[in-house]
Amino acid sequence: MAELLKGKEPVAAMKERLTAQVARLKQAGVHPKMTIVRCGARPDDLSYETGAIKRFSGLGVDVEVKELPVDIDQQAFAAQIEALNQDDSVHGVLIFRPLPRQLDESVLKYVLSPEKDMDAMNPDNLAKVFAADPSGYPPCTPEAVMELLDHYQVELAGKNVVILGRSMVVGRPLAMMMLAKNATVTICHSKTQNLPAVAQQADILVACVGQAKMVNAEYVSPGQVVIDVGINMGEDGKLCGDVDFETVEPIVARVTPAPGGVGSVTTSCLAAHVLRAAMKRAGLE
Ligand code: NDP
Repeated sequence: MAELLKGKEPVAAMKERLTAQVARLKQAGVHPKMTIVRCGARPDDLSYETGAIKRFSGLGVDVEVKELPVDIDQQAFAAQIEALNQDDSVHGVLIFRPLPRQLDESVLKYVLSPEKDMDAMNPDNLAKVFAADPSGYPPCTPEAVMELLDHYQVELAGKNVVILGRSMVVGRPLAMMMLAKNATVTICHSKTQNLPAVAQQADILVACVGQAKMVNAEYVSPGQVVIDVGINMGEDGKLCGDVDFETVEPIVARVTPAPGGVGSVTTSCLAAHVLRAAMKRAGLE
């Protein structure tokens, strides 16, 4: 039986750290606040939003939601973001993506100020991940993977890591973060040959493919640590990961559940960014 790497434990450890930061900020008269920008009301945005509001209120961090019309045009959307850049009561901004089709993200990603960009939408923050510069705000999901590994003391130096998925929000930045910790990283994607054989060679296998239960017993080997980043709707209508937990768990050494693993740590990473932004602005960092 594999050891379960649940998100609950790192979330509790982070809560202690973050609560102390909130107390310091409030003592200095600062009320940390994040604004969520949402176009329309997609069910997965709403579900993430509800989770974030709950986590943030448990920490004493305010969340304001700006719901914009789903047919908003480029200029009006940019004006909303500019206004948030100027608003001193807002320390961080999260813009739900993908944006509606009429909005050009390749232009808009530069509009949100890097200092308020909490999930690496602005290329300045992504570039800092690739440059191993800790002064920016990395994307929250790969950061949550790193937090979880760190919490459970999974050693990365000298280890073979195989990442299944190369998106700009998860796979690629995660590869850079792991490289910075001296792992030897292989990034796989839909054109990779012999994927199960490559995956089996990993000490640490990360699944971020967005394919429900794709990673089955063929992909894993004894002793591995398996991290499941996926959040998918299974055929049974229940949430599931990219890993077929039932077949993988009896083989590997340690595995994250999904849901209840990486996803739950992501919101805490988001809160950590907002607090760091508030501390920076208040000169408390
Ligand atoms: P994307 O769809 O942007 O990227 C998926 C990646 O997986 C691509 O690089 C793609 O390859 C690769 N891929 C897809 N199918 C296969 C396959 N059959 N074999 C090999 N590689 C494949 O997804 P995201 O990175 O945005 O998300 C990945 C997963 O993580 C999703 O389940 C998503 O829901 C979840 N997620 C979880 C979050 C959390 O907080 N836990 C937050 C964000 C995402 P190619 O590049 O060749 O197309």
